[in-house]
Amino acid sequence: MKRLCVIGDPVEHSKSPVIQTAMIRAAGLDMSYDAQWVTAGYTKAWLEYAKREGWAGFNATMPHKQALVKLVDELSDDASRIGAVNTVCIRDGKAYGHNTDGAGFLRALRLAGMDPQDRCVLVLGAGGAAKAVVYALLRSGARKVVVANRTVKHAGALCSQLGIPGAMACGFSRETLYRWAAQSQLLVNCTSLGMTGTDSQFEDLSFLDRLPREAGVFDLIYSPARTALLERAEQLGLNTANGLDMLIWQGVYALELFADKRLDETALAAEACKALEGML
Ligand code: NAP
Repeated sequence: MKRLCVIGDPVEHSKSPVIQTAMIRAAGLDMSYDAQWVTAGYTKAWLEYAKREGWAGFNATMPHKQALVKLVDELSDDASRIGAVNTVCIRDGKAYGHNTDGAGFLRALRLAGMDPQDRCVLVLGAGGAAKAVVYALLRSGARKVVVANRTVKHAGALCSQLGIPGAMACGFSRETLYRWAAQSQLLVNCTSLGMTGTDSQFEDLSFLDRLPREAGVFDLIYSPARTALLERAEQLGLNTANGLDMLIWQGVYALELFADKRLDETALAAEACKALEGML
């Protein structure tokens, strides 16, 4: 049996064991999946241990995603560009690092009817998730991606590190958000504002009023299912989606990497969704 897990600190909140176990069962794979508490600074020690003890792979959440970039033996193009690894496959003692967050986001976006092709996209936030999102948007033909962040220099660093033309950084002031919202057909929230467990909320959501009527609003947050941002966007009649499908689809793609074959993706995503019912 292939042993798999998610590593992180904290890791108790991770939904990966629930999602992966449901999908493994549905696909009839000979695998087990659990959560392992690994603290910052122990990423290298964990990887060596996992190789030695015959683990088949693992997913990584905070604070390991960036550290793994330098530790794995081979890195996929996506993981290299994004600068973060969320999936590691171990084969014949070698560790292969991947990032499925960008692909998961894109699948969820398209399922919500928000194709980024030739669109101008306003991305709020410039943390780890934003990097995968901006990369995926540019790779899938977005015309322009404007990254608005409280700390402008984080947005600037994100745009330059990706090394793909089409992204630009700006601040988070009301005027700036008004200006770019008016020119965008899609808005993606990658900040943690409004997430369950944080006190921080958007102080002002009036920038949503500036979006064109046909615009889509995608919030990476899935708990709560409807943030204040999504509620306001819905009231305005805009197309909206939360981050649940992104969470599920990054997991589907990770399982395909662990299994080293294509699986029935739609059936597995449905199983994962069912397993999460009532948990968020
Ligand atoms: P992160 O690296 O910590 O980045 C957080 C971002 O939020 C930064 O841009 C930060 O701005 C901004 N921010 C935090 N507090 C703020 C405030 N009070 N006002 C304005 N901006 C603020 O986090 P992450 O890993 O990118 O995750 C971001 C969100 O995406 C989280 O809610 C997470 O749950 C969600 N997420 C969802 C999925 C999914 O599968 N659906 C996957 C990954 C992440 P500064 O740079 O100025 O600090």
